[in-house]
Amino acid sequence: MRTKKIQCYGCALLCDDVYIKLTKDGVVENTINSCFRGNGFIKNYLSESRLQQAVQKQSGLEILLSHEEVVSNLKEELLKASSIKFYGLGAISYQDQLQVLNVARKLYEEKKTIQIDKISENNDVLLSPSLTGIGQGINNADVFIFWNVDPTHSHPKLFGKLLFSRGMFRLSGKEMKKFILIQKQESDLTRLKDILIDNSTQSSSQLVTGLIHLLEGKSLDEISIGNLSKDNLRELKTFLQATEYGIIICNTPIQDHISITDLNLLMEKLNTYVKGRFSLLALPSMSNDFGLTSALFMTFGEEIASISPKSQDPADLAIIFGGEYLRDEFNPPQINFPEKKVILFDNFKSSFSSKASVTIPYSIPGIEANGTAIRLDGINLNLHKWNDPPGEVKSISEIFQSLLN
Ligand code: SF4
Repeated sequence: MRTKKIQCYGCALLCDDVYIKLTKDGVVENTINSCFRGNGFIKNYLSESRLQQAVQKQSGLEILLSHEEVVSNLKEELLKASSIKFYGLGAISYQDQLQVLNVARKLYEEKKTIQIDKISENNDVLLSPSLTGIGQGINNADVFIFWNVDPTHSHPKLFGKLLFSRGMFRLSGKEMKKFILIQKQESDLTRLKDILIDNSTQSSSQLVTGLIHLLEGKSLDEISIGNLSKDNLRELKTFLQATEYGIIICNTPIQDHISITDLNLLMEKLNTYVKGRFSLLALPSMSNDFGLTSALFMTFGEEIASISPKSQDPADLAIIFGGEYLRDEFNPPQINFPEKKVILFDNFKSSFSSKASVTIPYSIPGIEANGTAIRLDGINLNLHKWNDPPGEVKSISEIFQSLLN
């Protein structure tokens, strides 16, 4: 039995404090310090239902394909299609993203219509002010505002790291840490709130206006912030004014919860009226969404706008990268793939693979393939291979590299 430290690729927190215990045959017996989500992600590679070869559907039959047949099938389908839409690219490693986008770029130069789903989701993070790191959240933050977000399932260890952090100690040695929750419905965080703002009847703009009025010292009688009473408003004002290092935490796409204009305005006012400063921690839905933003700039540069989906018209072909993207039981994607032809990269059969003409398994980043990914606070981390993929399974980079040869 030996123990090995690994980088978990189960969500964009990319925890590097996770260990696996391996039997003498090199099989994972258990994980140490991973959350339920990470544990499931890591142990997936052992699953008996894991695909070991690509499966093609033909006249109701399932035919197993070799690597060469996969490459020739992909080449043929890409040649036939005049429009191609890529889904789920945020779930794969940076090296895989770059290789897929190199192929997409080549197709684009051949005058095919290329669309990348959710391309704009993370760009709004880049427009946001004062981003912060997880380390700052753990070491310095004293006030957290959770804006319509509950990371307990999407980024399970994040809240633990913040809750049991060193926090901010006053001169007296007393720990000051406040949790302000803005939410439309109860979540697993609700019981840990210091202030709970129910914003189910207020728009985010109205909420921002109320918060700004509170900071500017307007009479409490004239301020409306969710369901807060006058006493609650007074308490909130005290928390905010005393903040030394505050963090607003929200999901991407940010614009689903608050406009970037309102967010910038709120940040500006907070940083004018509070004792210290406020910054932002955005939580992407996929493990390497921020890597995708970087890979897109590398391959398409200023032409990114031309590959951003402009209509809901189905493309001729959908290429979907599954993995966590399709199997996130806590945040199932509300996606219908309207394309008639679907090629799916996934390691398991599912309701999605039943609609795909071909399902192609691939090496799992951080387990069976090396790579890099960008953590939710912008830190670039290496993913190290520690196991061989089964059968003929190749990495996405290897498969897409073959398409360029
Ligand atoms: S929080 Fe995310 S990265 Fe960390 S162990 Fe859980 S799934 Fe893995």
